[in-house]
Amino acid sequence: MTIAMAQNDIMTQNDILAQNDKCNNNFKGEYINFMDLTYKKTNVYKVADKKLLDEISAYGEGYKKFLDNSKTEREAVETTVKMVEAKGYKPLVLGTKIKKGDKLYYNNRGKNLLLLKVGSANIAENGIRILVAHVDSPRLDLKQVPIFEKSSIAYAKTHYYGGIKKYQWLTIPLALHGVVVLQDGTKVSVNIGEDDSDPIFYITDLLPHLSQEINEKPVSKAFPAENLNLILGSIPMENNDKDAVKLNVLRILNEKYGITEEDFLSAELEAVPQVKAKDVGLDRSFIAGYGHDDRVCAYPEITATLETETEQTVLTVLADKEEIGSEGNTGMQSIIIADIIDQVAQSFGVSSALVRSKSMCLSADVTAGFDPHFASAFEEKNASYMNFGVTMNKFTGSRGKSGSNDASAEYIGHLRQVFAKDNVIWQTSELGRVDLGGGGTVAKFLASLNIDTVDLGVPVLSMHAPYELISKADIYQAHKAFSAFIK
Ligand code: MN
Ligand code: MN
Repeated sequence: MTIAMAQNDIMTQNDILAQNDKCNNNFKGEYINFMDLTYKKTNVYKVADKKLLDEISAYGEGYKKFLDNSKTEREAVETTVKMVEAKGYKPLVLGTKIKKGDKLYYNNRGKNLLLLKVGSANIAENGIRILVAHVDSPRLDLKQVPIFEKSSIAYAKTHYYGGIKKYQWLTIPLALHGVVVLQDGTKVSVNIGEDDSDPIFYITDLLPHLSQEINEKPVSKAFPAENLNLILGSIPMENNDKDAVKLNVLRILNEKYGITEEDFLSAELEAVPQVKAKDVGLDRSFIAGYGHDDRVCAYPEITATLETETEQTVLTVLADKEEIGSEGNTGMQSIIIADIIDQVAQSFGVSSALVRSKSMCLSADVTAGFDPHFASAFEEKNASYMNFGVTMNKFTGSRGKSGSNDASAEYIGHLRQVFAKDNVIWQTSELGRVDLGGGGTVAKFLASLNIDTVDLGVPVLSMHAPYELISKADIYQAHKAFSAFIK
């Protein structure tokens, strides 16, 4: 193509297209349709046959169930452990020898899960295929001393987790999920709001009639975080004047869970939207749900890991704490992933530095789907479109790619071949228009271990809202991409 263009450098692209019929041999003398020189994204539904349509629809049903059972990182880990145990996975014990054919899981403190399937291929030559997604999502965490009473109503104070638009959390049904560790070490699981007979929790908003002052404020100032307080109750306990409602709430908590106010000091309670995943649209092409970011990538990672026949060694990670910077011992900055790679390498008498250098990783995280209502937030050629497949972000970051893992052309070139072989429909995007904002993922933490890594995930509309939207076609392409990658 380069040579042909050089000989005809006075021709415009339009001239060339106009001569398409006459001039259809490339510089090697092979037939070429000049339209093949252009790149176009593919709408999954424009190329899907009946079989693919059925697969897409069936896959969405499984995902909705997973999502409804996995509203917190702890629940996502629990749900996944059940799925993998049913397929013969056993707990991995740190420091023990690993053998070919092993199927193991390492449950890191109930919030971070690593699945290891050891293949027959030589890890000194092939390294490990690594899939990473995160299972924490934006939410409202209860503070450590949460309960107070004002104007005869008892509330629980929250501290939001991850990036949220605070107004979206007002006047929606909320459920409380999590654990309370009592003084004697007993761990009490809490799940209030999901059962049809359960009460829910609620944060109030001001009526529009009296909102003139609030309406004048910028959104970032109009909804103070300290007002994100959950209503716990309003019936006072008899024979008590001061904090009688709060006392009654504590009485109920003590009767039901055996906990006291002090026990909140060692609790992790998360207020999450009390919503179930639902099909959206008359054609049922979308799914609305809480926490698509990033369970919409975690689920296809798990299904690809469990269903794909492969000789490769595969490490699949469900990470915690991504939404707050991948910190802590359950986040992707934890050394646990390196420890497990070390353990595999040592078991086969191979240098772990060598194994890591040969390994490849897909950092599976969601990206922003193009929304025509907010078109100016995107740059249309480099946006991710709903139903156009799983999306690769070569880089993330902000202000000149800062803070980003910028994957290499060589690695992306390799993945193009892998995906083409299995007919994966995929696209590329940037997270919005340059200099508008930005975001990061776990990719850079994997890359810092000297592992080729790129972001590949599902586009989401209304990302980080209590009820987000994804396309069934895109999540199914994510499953196909992860499967092709670990083959
Ligand atoms: Mn994410
Ligand atoms: Mn996120």
